[in-house]
Amino acid sequence: MPTKRIHNFNAGPAALPLPVLEEIQASFLNFNNSGMSITEVSHRSKWFDDVINDAVIRIRRLLKMDETYQVLFLQGGASMQFAMIPMNLLRDGESADYVNTGTWATKAIQEARLLEKTVRVAASSEDRNFCYIPDKIEFDPKAIYTHITSNNTIKGTQWAAYPNTGGVPLAADMSSDFMSRPFDAKPFGLIYAGAQKNIGPAGVCVVIIRDDLLKRASGNIPTMLKYTTHAAKNSMYNTPPCFGVYTIQLVMKWLEESVGGLEAMDAVNQKKAACLYSVIDASRFYKGTADKDSRSLMNVTFRLPSEDLEKQFVQEAMAENLGGLKGHRSVGGCRASIYNATTLESVQVLADFMKTFERKNG
Ligand SMILES: *Cc1c(COP(=O)(O)O)cnc(C)c1O
Repeated sequence: MPTKRIHNFNAGPAALPLPVLEEIQASFLNFNNSGMSITEVSHRSKWFDDVINDAVIRIRRLLKMDETYQVLFLQGGASMQFAMIPMNLLRDGESADYVNTGTWATKAIQEARLLEKTVRVAASSEDRNFCYIPDKIEFDPKAIYTHITSNNTIKGTQWAAYPNTGGVPLAADMSSDFMSRPFDAKPFGLIYAGAQKNIGPAGVCVVIIRDDLLKRASGNIPTMLKYTTHAAKNSMYNTPPCFGVYTIQLVMKWLEESVGGLEAMDAVNQKKAACLYSVIDASRFYKGTADKDSRSLMNVTFRLPSEDLEKQFVQEAMAENLGGLKGHRSVGGCRASIYNATTLESVQVLADFMKTFERKNG
């Protein structure tokens, strides 16, 4: 029986590359001739060792990072990192800068303050409901790190270029655009990404931390919340999220061997975003919610003339096999999440649907 698959525009958990899902399916009952599923082998086995080591090597290679960057696979999602970062990196009397560009950045700030850490909001776009990325920011040169959210999943904005902090390491929540485009890793001391947006299933968060920041963790930090615990054991201090790590490994292999690396991925992602934004810009029916120079290539957020029409849009789209187009419950409207695994073909089908819907209802 042929499997019906939709054009998936979910924000997260989200689409995964079909060849990756097929490879998982084909090897699910007998992983590498082990006679077991990847979900059944020991994390202390050679089978799993090969998986996790290959995932680390591929992540470093894709991002052109050397071995001073430790790649960890942790649980608790990106949300756990909101607490782990200040807990591990900030000592008494030290301060960190945060740029507040939306819902997730706000949560990261709240979490640091809950721990009674000193946090300075260096810039915020809250004055216009986070529809833009601030520029001309004055960073504190004494900050231990500067926290940014590279892509704002809910508000539909993204840093086009990363800010110059004058040497203070960037700590970035890249949950919704990790591995979507190449970037210079040097300014980054820490990068984290919940896998379920762009690189894998829910249940695993990739954390990349540079040795100079890794060394800062000190004091009474619970063992499981300390970066050094996980770095010292190659993410296997306790049982890691094995299936998630395995899926990430396959997605990295797909990126390297099928897509051809991050430059090639970026080129496709730019085309996909341009396809939808050109429909929005040519129309008075659809209104993009983000400022043009701050628009996200991953989450295209837009409004229709009324909430009734938005509801109808989402329903009729679903009837055409186009799923996941409802905006986040906190902002309403519509959102097309077009992560790496959403194909240009799916995006073109959506663009055509949008034009037809406008003709009928505009
Ligand atoms: C989804 C998301 C989060 C939350 O991720 P969890 O893994 O659910 O904790 C944090 N930051 C950004 C940018 C996100 O898109």
